[in-house]
Amino acid sequence: MVMHTEGLTTTELIYEGFIPLLYNNIVYYVNIDEEYQSIEAKTNAYTHNPSSSRPLKIRNWNTLCQLYDLFIQNRKEKREQNHKESISSESKKRGNMYMDSILQWNVGVGCFFRCKYCVLSFQAQMKRQKHNCIKCYNYEPHFHPERLDRKLPKTSGDEFIWAFSSADISFMKKKWVNQVIEKIRENPEKTFFFQTKNPKCFEKYSFPNNLLLGITLETNKEDYYKKARISKAPLPHKRVKDFISIDHPHKCITIEPILQFDLDMMLKYCLQIHPERIYMGYDSKNSFLREPTYYEFQELKKGLEEALPKCKVKTKFIKKDFWEDQTTLTKFIGGNK
Ligand code: SF4
Repeated sequence: MVMHTEGLTTTELIYEGFIPLLYNNIVYYVNIDEEYQSIEAKTNAYTHNPSSSRPLKIRNWNTLCQLYDLFIQNRKEKREQNHKESISSESKKRGNMYMDSILQWNVGVGCFFRCKYCVLSFQAQMKRQKHNCIKCYNYEPHFHPERLDRKLPKTSGDEFIWAFSSADISFMKKKWVNQVIEKIRENPEKTFFFQTKNPKCFEKYSFPNNLLLGITLETNKEDYYKKARISKAPLPHKRVKDFISIDHPHKCITIEPILQFDLDMMLKYCLQIHPERIYMGYDSKNSFLREPTYYEFQELKKGLEEALPKCKVKTKFIKKDFWEDQTTLTKFIGGNK
C-alpha cells in the first residue's frame, strides 16, 4: 500500500499518521495504524533524511521490520515508562520555572486569559492560598501592596526577579504597575522581569533599563491555537506585532509550552523582535497539547542560535517521546543493527 508522502514535511507526515523512529541517526517514518495488518503496515515504512523535508527510499529493510514489530508490541507500556524516564534530573529540578528567576515576586496576582496549561501550573499553585486570599485562590486579578516592601534579593548574571509571575500584567491596573516600576527604579543594581501575552499593554509605561520585557510565544500556528482553545490571549501574530513596536533595549521571548510550529515563521517572528534572550521548553504538566518532536525542537533551537548570534537561547523542560530515544530503541532491538 503506497502512501502519498512525497514532498510532505515532518509535521505533515505526523499528521498523516506516521510516527518518527530515530535509529542509527536516521529518522524512520512508520505508519502504525493498528487497523492494518503488520505486513501491510511495513510497506508504509520510509526512511527520512533529517536535513531534507522529503521522504527517501526504503533502507535497512530487515532492521526496520524488526523495529516495527517490537515497536507495536511495546508501544503502550513503553510510552508511559519512557515519558517518565526521559525527564532529566536537571529538568526535574527546574520544573516549569525559569532557571534564572531567583524570586517570583507575586505583588499582583490573577489573569483571565485562561490558558489551557495554566490551570495545572500557576493556577494550581494559587489553589494553596484558599485560606490566605480568596482572590488568589480564584486567580482574580488583584494587587498585594503589602508585598511592595518585601526584601528583594541581589541578582547577578542572567538572574532576575520576576514581578507579577502569577499574573498577566495586562490585567493589572496602571497605578499598581507604576508602583512596582518605581520599586524597580529604586533598585538599579538588580534585574527584574515582566512577561505578558498582551504586549500592547507595555505601551502605557515608561520602563527602566534594569527591566527585561518578555512575551510568551508558544507557536505561530494559529489554526490549532484557536481550534484547541489554547488561550484567550491575543493571537501570536498580534503579540509579535505589538512587541516589535515597543521601544526597549532588553527583550525576551518564552517559547513554552512549545506547540507544533512552522520553522520559517517562528524564526522570522523571533528575528523581528530582536530578543537578547529566548527560553524554550515543553509542557511539563501533561496538558495534552500538540507538541513538536524532539528533532523539530532542536532544529528551531539551532536556527535561533544561528540567526541571532548575540541572543542567549536557553532550554527549560525538555522531553522525548520514546520513539525518539536511541537508548530505548536499542534496548528494544537488543543491539541488532
Ligand atoms: S497568560 Fe499566563 S497567567 Fe494568564 S492564564 Fe495564561 S499562563 Fe496563566
